[in-house]
Amino acid sequence: MTTALITGANKGIGFEIAKQLGERGITAIVGARDEELGRAAAERLGQPYVRVDVTDPAGVQTAAKWIEQEYGALDILVNNAGITVWQEDARPSVTSADVLRQVYEVNVFGVVTVTNAMLPLLRRSAAGRIVNMSSELGSLTMAMDPETPWWPFNLVAYNSSKTALNMVTVSYAKELLETPIKVNAANPGYCATDLNANTGFRTPAQGASIAVHLATLEADGPSGTYLQDDGPIPW
Ligand code: NAP
Repeated sequence: MTTALITGANKGIGFEIAKQLGERGITAIVGARDEELGRAAAERLGQPYVRVDVTDPAGVQTAAKWIEQEYGALDILVNNAGITVWQEDARPSVTSADVLRQVYEVNVFGVVTVTNAMLPLLRRSAAGRIVNMSSELGSLTMAMDPETPWWPFNLVAYNSSKTALNMVTVSYAKELLETPIKVNAANPGYCATDLNANTGFRTPAQGASIAVHLATLEADGPSGTYLQDDGPIPW
């Protein structure tokens, strides 16, 4: 049995990742902070649910214990949960450090909390895979390219959180290089979800596909990469 935990899987891209992993015969545990929403999503998918609020370290430990009791190990962790804080004006000069803290709490610190709690279980897998849901908005190279469509999106909190997440990804990949565990960052592209008031031009299912690809990499697959559907994107 292959077992996956997907955080923020009650809706959006996370729900689609759980669905697509389930279609591959993988037990895709729906991680969600809201029990009602999480259970409803899990029921729709015919998958198990576990409560995961990535900002609650004690709760995340409880989730890890539950997974250990139920499955003994974990093969795939998709750190998908992510937020942005809506601001009428998101320029750095008018954004408070508190806004950054709020966003980093989920997009960066939450990923570290969940990853460290799940690592002992991932180490028991013959083919552990960690996928961090990043964004093209985290690319330093693209941020300074006026030719990209993302040039106007200068959201200091969200964008820098995804840049930090990219380095978090590389750091874990380096530590785990001599193990079977692969750690990669995924860019889903601009997908219509609640995160962006459904303005994205891709579907959540399309956004999920790169995460599913990275979650199911073969033993000779890469680690420490930043990928979208058509290949690597610049850091
Ligand atoms: P979404 O529909 O807003 O879903 C976000 C998910 O994260 C929800 O399930 C949400 O749960 C969960 N979440 C938020 N805070 C949480 C916490 N403290 N603990 C656990 N779960 C929490 O957004 P999405 O577009 O699917 O985003 C999924 C990931 O893709 C995010 O990391 C996002 O940054 C990334 N991404 C999205 C796009 C895009 O265009 N949509 C582009 C690039 C990257 P609740 O329902 O309880 O709030």
